[in-house]
Amino acid sequence: MPYSLARHPFPPAERRLVLAERTVLARAGTDSFVRLRLVEAVPGELAGFVAPGGGDHVTVAVGSVEGGDVVVDDGGSTRAEFRTETVVDHSVDEGWIDLDVLVHGEPGAELGVIGPWAARAPLGSPAVMRGPKGSVVLSGVPGEVVLAGDDSALPAVRRYLRMLGPSITGHLLLETRFGLAALGIEPPAGLSVSILPPDPQRSSAALAEALAALRAPADPLERFVFACGEQSLVAPGRALLAAWGIDVERAVLKGYWKR
Ligand SMILES: Cc1cc2nc3c(=O)[nH]c(=O)nc-3n(C[C@H](O)[C@H](O)[C@H](O)COP(=O)(O)OP(=O)(O)OC[C@H]3O[C@@H](n4cnc5c(N)ncnc54)[C@H](O)[C@@H]3O)c2cc1C
Repeated sequence: MPYSLARHPFPPAERRLVLAERTVLARAGTDSFVRLRLVEAVPGELAGFVAPGGGDHVTVAVGSVEGGDVVVDDGGSTRAEFRTETVVDHSVDEGWIDLDVLVHGEPGAELGVIGPWAARAPLGSPAVMRGPKGSVVLSGVPGEVVLAGDDSALPAVRRYLRMLGPSITGHLLLETRFGLAALGIEPPAGLSVSILPPDPQRSSAALAEALAALRAPADPLERFVFACGEQSLVAPGRALLAAWGIDVERAVLKGYWKR
């Protein structure tokens, strides 16, 4: 039976959390993947939190890298910049959520907003989390999958792989220099795995080319496609879905960041 993909909106929620643990999972050149465990700033903050979909994500605003407060306006509303991160794991009962943050740049000179905080903010530093705004839930078992992602999509790819189970077949295309085992990514035997070297001047171009080289599905209703990376992946990804006869609403195709 063909799989289905259902989109469920959730009511807006903003939660106050505190950095409780940091684990460096893997390094690749000057980049690293850091797992952050955020815990409730006060008991009950995570009440009602759900994230059942493989790619479910939250947005996070952080304070200064020295552990300062998250910026708010005179009315107490959060004014800091938010960054989007995939929900890796969570426990409402125990009051924690884990996020895997890709940190770019030399230690001590990390780029961006959440990267330096993920790398260096003292334990106990505050953060504000919004979402998930909704969930995209895959039901049934697709006849085959095409999972394609760059570093920023590795946490979502890992969740999809775990949800799809060991007997899934298809293609796994990853544009990454990270070791998959260190990130807990264990591709099932039925997936043909292509590891593509990233080209920083043409982010996600290798993914787009590898996707375009795949054969069209025998049955478009049986191929589930997840393809997420740099924004430039979206236009060729859409064209390819159309050529394969796959409705874009039955796929997950998203720009996770912009160059
Ligand atoms: C649905 C969704 C889920 C996501 N899940 C995750 C996740 O689980 N983990 C994760 O690390 N990211 C994830 N991302 C991507 C993340 O939101 C962005 O990469 C974010 O911009 C990083 O913020 P920053 O403060 O580190 O860097 P920014 O301030 O955004 O950027 C700093 C510099 O780094 C560059 N940059 C940003 N992201 C990347 C990248 N991936 N590769 C190369 N250069 C980059 C920018 O172009 C800029 O030059 C997700 C995005 C979406 C939309």
